[in-house]
This record gives sequence, structure tokens and C-alpha cells, in this order.
Amino acid sequence: MASDSTGTPEPDSPEELLAWARTYARTVDIDVDLDAVGWDVSKHARRRAGACRYDHDDGVTIVLSWHSYRAHGWAEVADTVRHELVHAWEFQQFGESGHGPRFERQADAVDAPRHCEPFADPRYVLRCRTDGCSWRARRYRASKTVTEPARYRCGDCGARYVVEHAGSGRTWDDGAGYERVRAELGDDW
Ligand SMILES: [Zn+2]
Ligand SMILES: [Zn+2]
Repeated sequence: MASDSTGTPEPDSPEELLAWARTYARTVDIDVDLDAVGWDVSKHARRRAGACRYDHDDGVTIVLSWHSYRAHGWAEVADTVRHELVHAWEFQQFGESGHGPRFERQADAVDAPRHCEPFADPRYVLRCRTDGCSWRARRYRASKTVTEPARYRCGDCGARYVVEHAGSGRTWDDGAGYERVRAELGDDW
């Protein structure tokens, strides 16, 4: 399987991504019965990095996103694997899983992100205009922060931000811009 000179995996197919993820999972220091964990790769989920499916008959299946790997690289896949392994651990130990204090303690123990990517693709993405400020926020409906962005500020540095309509890539930073883009897109909104 392909990897770069530092040993970072560079899978070039969904099947290789799965193989690397399963290999990586064995290196994570967590008490999970990996033989009881199923693996799958989604070629459709565009933004969600991963998911942990569970039912009483089939047990736990960790689902990775090929698009997320292509967009964000191996490091995000590794983060996702550790996060979903914590869910698998909770399911195996307690028969249920969430993002409560028990999850957070175990996530911290394996240096996993505490939060899953949200399930749905956001309709709007808010982005700070300051160079070097990485503040982003996702919105699923046209709230005031989407329709009147001039009245609000970046959550990190306090500067202005732009709103992007995720489906078209069109952006605006005030109420008039929102109205204009909305009118121009018409049925594509
Ligand atoms: Zn989660
Ligand atoms: Zn900012």
C-alpha cells in the first residue's frame, strides 16, 4: 500500500483507505474487541468524516468517508478512527454511546476529537475575513447570522465574516448581498 516518506498512509482507493484504517485501529490504546467491529467506507457522504453505526444484531460498524479523506487527508481519518473507536468502546462496554462525560474521558485518553462532524451538510458556511483567522461556523437554515451578516462578527477575532451558500459557492457579507444572491440563484437556492 502506498505511503509517503514519513510513513503517512496515502491510500488511493476506498479499499486501501479501509485497509489502512483497520491497521491503524490496532495501534490505538483502547479496550475494544476489534474482531467484533465492522468497517465500511461511504463514497457519498461528502462532509461527514465518519460515523459509528450500531444495532443489537450486527454490533458496531465504523463508516469512513472517502470524500472526507480526499478533502482533508489522512490525519482527519486517523482522528475519525479514534473518535469512532471510543463509540465502539462505549457500545461494547455499556450497550449505548453518546458524547457525554464518559465518552469525553475516554476520548481524551486516546487524544480523539470529542465531537463528530454534523450529520447533514450545512446549507451555509460562515468564514472569517481576517487572514490567518480560521474561524468557521456551519448553518443549516437562513438564520439572522446568514441573512444579516453585517450585524454580527467572527466568534474568534471579532472581525467581519462572509457567508457562503454551500450549494453554489456564492458569498455575501450583508443583507443586500443575501437578497441579491438569493434572487439571482432563483430555483438553485
Ligand atoms: Zn461521535
Ligand atoms: Zn476571525
